[in-house]
Amino acid sequence: ASESAAKLPSKILDLMDGFKASKALFVASKLKMFDYLKTKGPLKAVDVANEVGTSVCGTERLLDACVALGLLEKTSQGYSNTDSANTYLTSDGEYSLHGYIIHSNDHLWPLFTNLESAVREGSRQNHRAFGRKAEDLFKDYYHSQEVKQRFMAAMHSIAHLTARDVATAFDLSQFKSTCDLGGCTGALAHELIQIYPNMKVTVFDLPEVIANISYFQPSEQCAAPVTFVSGDFFKDNLPEADLYILSRVLHDWPDEKIHVLLSKISAVCKPGCGILLAEMVLDDEKKNRSTALLQSLNMLVQTEGKERSGSEYRGLLEQHGFANVKIKLTGNLLDVILCIKT
Ligand code: SAM
Repeated sequence: ASESAAKLPSKILDLMDGFKASKALFVASKLKMFDYLKTKGPLKAVDVANEVGTSVCGTERLLDACVALGLLEKTSQGYSNTDSANTYLTSDGEYSLHGYIIHSNDHLWPLFTNLESAVREGSRQNHRAFGRKAEDLFKDYYHSQEVKQRFMAAMHSIAHLTARDVATAFDLSQFKSTCDLGGCTGALAHELIQIYPNMKVTVFDLPEVIANISYFQPSEQCAAPVTFVSGDFFKDNLPEADLYILSRVLHDWPDEKIHVLLSKISAVCKPGCGILLAEMVLDDEKKNRSTALLQSLNMLVQTEGKERSGSEYRGLLEQHGFANVKIKLTGNLLDVILCIKT
């Protein structure tokens, strides 16, 4: 018995606990405990419970779990944030992931509850999770101001965290103008202007998104303003640009829709101009990167898209006259692919 006890399947046991750990993080974030601890910590459990309006016994257990998960510190004075909680978990942290955490709790969690049905049926589960059949993924997000704000905050938090690595993965100085198609809040666009102050940067997104961007604009003055244009990239004319960016856009769609979009871009793209993709790029054998492979399940439960490998992206791009496809794995959440129109 002692021999089998020594060989605990710790990886499997950790995975079995994964959902409890995720939910503990989500609930502590939703209750803004990291925000209170940043401004008022160290605090005892009873003080956090009073600030938040929760039970003392439940709050103490949640805080202790967060300590054990490495999110908080506990001393005789009480609980306080780790440095990483201050940076990533507070809602105003420099690289706050608060928006994505709330999106994960409120939107992705109900969808993942239906993962079994998604796998059985091979299709998205919005109708089961939210009782509404979505004709279009983004109509589903933009039907209410609250859901739209939450989705945009989620996109913004990851875009802000990855923007520098995406913008610097390749030297883009040859491109005088850039259009970030589906560029949402403009987080990547602002980073591009920081790095290439002479670049003319346009963000193109659906009218519902463009109407809601002001909340997400940086408070400091940028070197040059980002231009925001509203439209539908499947139907409307695309703004002119030397470089078209598609960041976390292609993974939302099936190949047929991607062909429509890439052929539209190809039609307006002059030789020497390019496309830059930012996506989680899978390895060709699709076996090594659990974050990206789990993200592909995330696409299954809510879209008709999926994550793809470098060869799959190369194949899609080459069919539309884009060559010299270069793939850079950044080590950040998003990788970058650059190609040039021949
Ligand atoms: N590029 C951003 C990023 O990486 O954070 C946002 C990615 S989000 C997954 C996809 C974006 O594409 C959303 O902002 C959405 O509004 C936009 N989008 C979806 N369908 C669109 C369409 N038909 N025309 C223009 N934008 C669209």
